[in-house]
Amino acid sequence: MALFPDTPTFSKPSMLRRNKWLIRLRWYAILGLFGGVILLETIQLGPGRSLLWIGIVGLSLVVCNLIYLAYTSVKKKLAMSRLVTLLNVQMVVDLFMLTVLIYLTGSAESPLSFFYVFHIILASIIFPGGFSYLYSLLVIALYSSLLLLEQSIYLNHICFFNDIHLSEDSRIVIAIWFIFVITMLVSAYLAQNVTERHRRVRNKLEIANQKLQEINETKTTFFRYASHEMKAPIATIQSTLMVVEDILGTQADERVRDMLRRAIGRTSETIGMLKDLADLTYGNFQEQQKFETLDLKALLTDIVADAQPNADRKKQTMLLDAPADACEFFGDVIALKQIFSNLLSNATRYTQDNGTIQIQLSKTREGYVIAVSDNGSGIPKSEQINIFKEFYRTPAAKKQVSEGTGLGLAIVMRMVELHDGNIQVESEEGQGSKFIVHLPLGVSD
Ligand code: ADP
Repeated sequence: MALFPDTPTFSKPSMLRRNKWLIRLRWYAILGLFGGVILLETIQLGPGRSLLWIGIVGLSLVVCNLIYLAYTSVKKKLAMSRLVTLLNVQMVVDLFMLTVLIYLTGSAESPLSFFYVFHIILASIIFPGGFSYLYSLLVIALYSSLLLLEQSIYLNHICFFNDIHLSEDSRIVIAIWFIFVITMLVSAYLAQNVTERHRRVRNKLEIANQKLQEINETKTTFFRYASHEMKAPIATIQSTLMVVEDILGTQADERVRDMLRRAIGRTSETIGMLKDLADLTYGNFQEQQKFETLDLKALLTDIVADAQPNADRKKQTMLLDAPADACEFFGDVIALKQIFSNLLSNATRYTQDNGTIQIQLSKTREGYVIAVSDNGSGIPKSEQINIFKEFYRTPAAKKQVSEGTGLGLAIVMRMVELHDGNIQVESEEGQGSKFIVHLPLGVSD
């Protein structure tokens, strides 16, 4: 479809948007036209017959615009070639109408001829390739024919501005014609140049963005593959160490047993870290996400049940407060589990023995709010902006709980974002913490 090589072509949705835009612009032009007629009537400029015909042109434009509108809405699935034809028809009809208006307002004397420029700019915005050049040629042809016809016996000149008779002097007409041609060609060049450059930059950005996405996907794949491949040998090392520890039992030197215990501890930490790293990339690929309608209350009940043994070990009370009815939600089970199991694991780890952990689920008009609160160590205000960063652990947490990767809340944040939600933290040092998750309804509808 492009007239010139190396020019980008447009997609159908963008052409449809341009069609709508052109029809909308025409309504504004029609309004302006009727406004102009009323103004000319009021200041009594221009012959009455001309004003009447200008009104008739305005009405014809209204009819044309209604036809375009009806055609576009009836034929919703217009083929691309039809769409381009429709746009061209609109532009050509507009140019003819404008030429009639220019004739009615005095041809060479009419300032309306400047409006041709808008059509050339419009053509460069609406069509890819060098359409604006074609339109500038059409404009020149129309305007030249009008002036020629007026100079011949076939068309009478309308003297719009009472005493001004520029067209009687053909030298002035030629001068105006010359300036007009130059103006049209230059504006076509400028409009084409600017819009084409803008399009190229946009295309380049789109390509760069796509490349970045591809790199990101390759990185994620490598990440997942590497962590998956490393987990198996480390797990083997860990079980071997455990077997050795079992075999040696109490026979071994206390120093050797201590080394074994620490080695087993380090292998569990590494396995945990690899699992967290893999979790962090969950949902990066569209095909990895599994959104479905689920019962949020039932899901939270299961997650709380899974977290209960850890809380029991520290004699903590874990309470779930949820509405009586089922809470239907469209979400990804794996991602939701990661959110709440991480928050509950943190609450248990950073709360002292006999503490209390509460999970409150409530429904609002926008979606669900889930608050996980504890009366544990709390987080200093200055640290609260850092805790969602990857690998960040507060110094106090490092002292209090030795194991931890600093990835839990980063995973939580990503999984909340996957649901278009958000998370906030309210906490006072030594008083406990409250993590509030907002999950909006209808993410992927
Ligand atoms: P990790 O728990 O492995 O250190 P997270 O990303 O889950 O990593 O948490 C980051 C930091 O946020 C923790 O190191 C801790 O300082 C703080 N934190 C998270 N949850 C709580 C909580 N419930 N109470 C107190 N501190 C918390």
